Amino acid sequence: MDSTQHISDATILPPRVEKNVSLQQYNTFRFDYQAEFFALVEDLMTLKSLVGWAKQHNICVTMLGGGSNLLISADIPGLVIINRLRGCHAKEESGNRISLIVGAGENWHEMVEFTVQNHWFGVENLALIPGTAGAAPVQNIGAYGVEVKDSLARVQVLDRQTLDVYWVNAQDCGFAYRDSHFKGLWKDKYFITAIELSLKKRADLLLSYGGLANQIEGEPSLKKVFQAVCQVRSSKLPDPNVLANAGSFFKNPMVSTTQHNQLKESFPSLVSFPHGNEFKLAAGWLIDQAGWKGKTQQGVGVYEKQALVLVNHQAIKAEPLLELEANIKANVFNLYGVELEREPVQLPVLSQKELSGMLSEESQT
Ligand SMILES: Cc1cc2nc3c(=O)[nH]c(=O)nc-3n(C[C@H](O)[C@H](O)[C@H](O)COP(=O)(O)OP(=O)(O)OC[C@H]3O[C@@H](n4cnc5c(N)ncnc54)[C@H](O)[C@@H]3O)c2cc1C
Repeated sequence: MDSTQHISDATILPPRVEKNVSLQQYNTFRFDYQAEFFALVEDLMTLKSLVGWAKQHNICVTMLGGGSNLLISADIPGLVIINRLRGCHAKEESGNRISLIVGAGENWHEMVEFTVQNHWFGVENLALIPGTAGAAPVQNIGAYGVEVKDSLARVQVLDRQTLDVYWVNAQDCGFAYRDSHFKGLWKDKYFITAIELSLKKRADLLLSYGGLANQIEGEPSLKKVFQAVCQVRSSKLPDPNVLANAGSFFKNPMVSTTQHNQLKESFPSLVSFPHGNEFKLAAGWLIDQAGWKGKTQQGVGVYEKQALVLVNHQAIKAEPLLELEANIKANVFNLYGVELEREPVQLPVLSQKELSGMLSEESQT
């Protein structure tokens, strides 16, 4: 669909809106596609007026934060808004709690660092996750046994239809493993404009995941946990400013206990964790064992230290990565009967037909 069909060449664009802007520096895979219209937004008034303008002209709007969980695979029609809504203020609450309200465009890691400096507990295990505070609830970011939902009280949203701004309670957001209503039910309904965290003043550390405890010498403290998380992550994951990537490319698949037990019998070193009535398999282990770690093809590849991370060495467009993804998925399915699911969000949203068209075009060249 050409989203400009309702906007004539004579239409004056609002201030700050540019046409045909490259998104290469706005996604950590560094793929070079364009936004038809583009604006960087720093305040709520401007955000409301731009969403209103787009609505009036029937233009679709996509909001991006740090672009660290994206797979852009074609030019994005309509208006792309880069969220840079700022602000961070704390409010003392009774007892053990601190409420911290953070603008959606604030950098997540800097915000975590701020909580650690202030001796507030809750998000230290989520240090060094790239991106913005406002995107954290979208996929309910998680690491080292902690998810953002564990410390989230409310999410402030802009209703895209009414342009009203209001708070939604965290327990109504449908949080699950790397999932929330913001990715599904509410995908086209809201933009997140701020979050409210409920942090603890008294020590409450979680060290039992990812070998964190072994990284800490002496008595554990908030600062030591924060530093350990940063150290472990830096040693295992590529810095997107140095090697383009979007973190974990696949979710850890869930399988039934029966399937898990069968796999464990065939592959005794299988890495898995009980999760409710099911088992979560380490997708990185499946990909690694299938022999993909460190492989490269057409300028993209599988990170040499962590098979869950796909990296872009020099591709300008996404096709080679889509092909690599398809090959890994097919191979893992053949070997283990397990379907891998992609974690980053693909933009623009393409139909299955368009997607297979892209892949077959690529294989003909
Ligand atoms: C090296 C690396 C390590 C990572 N490690 C982890 C990890 O340990 N755990 C984890 O969970 N994730 C991880 N990620 C993924 C990513 O950092 C998170 O998902 C992060 O929250 C994305 O934030 P962003 O601002 O970059 O979002 P973007 O990539 O810009 O956007 C992601 C999605 O959210 C939507 N969105 C963004 N902002 C808003 C908003 N304000 N309102 C509504 N929708 C919005 C976008 O439209 C898009 O669909 C990692 C990524 C990298 C590159």
